[in-house]
Amino acid sequence: MKVHFKGTRGSVPVAPTALEIQEKVVASLLAARGKNLRSESQIREFVENKLPFHHSATWGGNTPCVQIETGSDDYLIFDGGSGLRVLGKEMLEKGEMSGKTFHIFLSHFHYDHIQGIPFFVPAYVPNNKIIFHGGHGNIERTLANQMKKPYFPISFETFQADFEFFTHSPGDIIEVCDSRISLIEQDHPGLSYGYRVDSGDSSVVYSTDAEHKNSAHCKNYPFVDFISNANLLIFDAPYTHSQTMSIREHWGHSSNIMGVELAARGEVDTLAIFHHDPSSSDHEIEDFLAHTKKFLDRSKIAVRDTRPGIPGAPSPRSHPSKVIMAYDGLSLNF
Ligand SMILES: [Zn+2]
Ligand SMILES: [Zn+2]
Repeated sequence: MKVHFKGTRGSVPVAPTALEIQEKVVASLLAARGKNLRSESQIREFVENKLPFHHSATWGGNTPCVQIETGSDDYLIFDGGSGLRVLGKEMLEKGEMSGKTFHIFLSHFHYDHIQGIPFFVPAYVPNNKIIFHGGHGNIERTLANQMKKPYFPISFETFQADFEFFTHSPGDIIEVCDSRISLIEQDHPGLSYGYRVDSGDSSVVYSTDAEHKNSAHCKNYPFVDFISNANLLIFDAPYTHSQTMSIREHWGHSSNIMGVELAARGEVDTLAIFHHDPSSSDHEIEDFLAHTKKFLDRSKIAVRDTRPGIPGAPSPRSHPSKVIMAYDGLSLNF
């Protein structure tokens, strides 16, 4: 499977200001002083491997949308945030515009997860087929409502593609795009649904807008089974542990610490932190990743040191092997 992150920001799209970009350029030029950077390849190597990510790039500003390539000709997409517009634009540029089938799985209807749909160019092209899947009822009516006047000038009926809408329940297995897809109900205002994709030997879990509270630490927590042995867990964690326990409790999202704990228990290989806080700067997100990695390393040592055994032996906690911060434009292979 190939996983393409088209939108990774939560709640509302964000864009860097001119001043913020200028500061990145100044910081990069300062870091380049005294370096031997004559050829383009030397400069590219320096930018890609020597500069911190928050100077050379940005974590991205589009709201949630993830595309998964499974080898099928049909498109498999999770959520229709503003990142969906980017996917449609890329298809237009490649000339891949007609006769396509899209399966779009929605976590829920909060605006940041559906706001890209009115801007998805393939929806306006005849001979395309778009099939929406979700755990909530009334998918068609809800998506049409966001395009009604006075909220949007073009109605849902303007779309030229064929549409279908399917509501699924936890326990269902949906067989599309050469994959088996299952869903789990999640704690979020109005509920949300997480999805697990099993295709060939690989598995990916897309789980956003989910608050894992203290019950998550109990034995037999269903989410741990749901993510068991996944290659990748895309996990909603815009907050710190203390925020989820205080000022942002009941906001419907989780922390980086909870992500590490659940990925460890589910023996997930790679944990991708997702749905970044719109108020976080690139620098703050990079710090957040550094703290998350430190917690992961220390938790492995802590688990090892609380078990009897040979001093210096590997920790019985071996997962996740990697934690990353997803960004718009990131692609991963499994
Ligand atoms: Zn959201
Ligand atoms: Zn939400």
